[in-house]
This record gives sequence, C-alpha cells and structure tokens, in this order.
Amino acid sequence: MTETGKDKERSIERIEACPACGGRSLSAFKKANFEVRDISPEDVKITDKAYGKVWDLDRCADCTHVFANPRPSPRFIQSLYGDIIDPVYQDEAEGRQKNFERILERMERLQPAKGPLFDVGAATGILMNMARERGWEPEGVEPSSWAVEAARDRYDLQIRSGDFETAELPKNRYAAVTMVDFIEHVPVPMAALVKAGEILRRDGVLCIVTPDIHSLAARMAGSRWWHYRPAHLAYFTHRSLQAILGRAGLKILKTRRYAWTFSAHYLLTRISFMGFLVKNPRWASFFSRIPIKLTLGDSFEIYAGKNTS
Ligand SMILES: [Zn+2]
Repeated sequence: MTETGKDKERSIERIEACPACGGRSLSAFKKANFEVRDISPEDVKITDKAYGKVWDLDRCADCTHVFANPRPSPRFIQSLYGDIIDPVYQDEAEGRQKNFERILERMERLQPAKGPLFDVGAATGILMNMARERGWEPEGVEPSSWAVEAARDRYDLQIRSGDFETAELPKNRYAAVTMVDFIEHVPVPMAALVKAGEILRRDGVLCIVTPDIHSLAARMAGSRWWHYRPAHLAYFTHRSLQAILGRAGLKILKTRRYAWTFSAHYLLTRISFMGFLVKNPRWASFFSRIPIKLTLGDSFEIYAGKNTS
C-alpha cells in the first residue's frame, strides 16, 4: 500500500458531541501516551499487556462518558482487528468458559425459551459453542480472520468474517445478542447498539459486558487501571450506558458486576515481578490448571431489552 493509502485508511476525526448522550460539554480527561497512528494489531489483541496506554480522552460533563477524541475511523479499526492473531486467548479457553457460563445462565433466566443468539465479536467461538451445547442457535461475527478460522477448526462453527455494524443481518430475528468486551472497542458505539436493537426480536435480550470507569478498582488503580489500553476507545459509566441505550431505543433490565475467571498462569504472566514462577514449563503447566475467580467488580454486565413503550 502507498504511504498516502495507509494514511487515508488510518484517519482520525475530532468529534464535537458526546457519543453516548449527544451532549456538547466536553473537556480533556487524559493525554495520549503513545503514537496512535503507529498502533498495530499487536496493540489491540485481547490479551495485550500494554496497560496504562490511552488515546487522547475527553469526558462529557452531562453523562460522565469518557471516550477517545479524536477518534479513529471505523476503517482504521477494521484494518487493525482483521489482522489480529492471539493464540494466548484460546489458551485461556477454560477461564473464559466459566465467564460465559455465568452469562448464559443469567440470559436463560431472562429468556427461558432460548432461540437464535447472535454473538458480536465472537473471537474464537467459545461462547457460541457453549450456547449451542445449551440449546441456543448461535450465530456470530468477528473481524479477525485468524479467530474465524480457529472457530471453524475447533468447534465447527461458521462465523461471519467482518464487522458487525455493516453485516447484513435479518431484522427482528434474535432472542439474544451478546456483546462481551465489545462496545469499548468500536469508534461509533451508537451504531452497534442501534443495530443490536434492529436484529433483536420484540422480547429479545441484549447482554453487554464493558469496563466501569467509576468502579472502585478503576479509582484505586488510577492511571495503571488494567482497562486503560490502546484497544479501548470508550469508558462507560452507569449513567453514560443508560444514556446511550436510551438513545438507541433500548432499556436496562438488569445490571450486575462482572466477575472474571483466569488461570493462575495468565495472571502471573501479567504481574512482572511474579513472572519467574511461570518460566519453568512444569510450573507453568501447573499454574495453567488453577482457575482464579477475580471479583474486581470493575466491569458491568448489563441486560437490556427493546423499549417498546
Ligand atoms: Zn455524554
């Protein structure tokens, strides 16, 4: 690709209104501490360790939403996510299964009839595979070609390749739409939520998991909060989620704190001074079998439905 072609693909634009509530009282919240135009797929993979790195962030005085401004174009983001290769993600399948099991259990309480389920940002298909085993009819979309192939090879799942916002999907079809760690990665979250509302059937339920920038963990960790990373373009609060869902024609049915399960191995490789414990392959394999449930409570797990009133 020519230099100008790459520059065009990597465009960023300043926005004047809050992407969550549309308010115009914006002020600078954090200064970017990396060169955003040099960002690579390595920087945005799910298991990335670049904690503390952020885009230029603005904060909305009306709804407390924090977001990248200027923001990258959807094309910029697609070019990054399409090329992600992240084998560590699949290594952590067991921990992720525990996370997704809790989500599916709660989803089934709200939607006992089950039916077609659409997973947005399906990654390697772990959630879709579990949903299928529990009697759902899962479909999904994922930008990373590597992940789409992994899902096909491992679980025999057909996942659409590409981005959710422009995927051609039937309206009013799905009993459930899941967006686990998705909404904070997209430049125009409103477009994704409007689309979710369109494809949900009348009694359909949307599940969103996303970091909570007002959580105690976020406030205690300060600028070293582990959700501050180059992949995250938006940091929601309960107020800003409520605002954006309302504008997208959705209403919150239930809000919970999200508990993460990781293996001890995964966590130890992320704590620099503990890293020596997993250098030895025997210890590494020992630690990879120990699940640890972290109830940091620093992510939302929100269930929403169509606002039909
Ligand atoms: Zn706002």
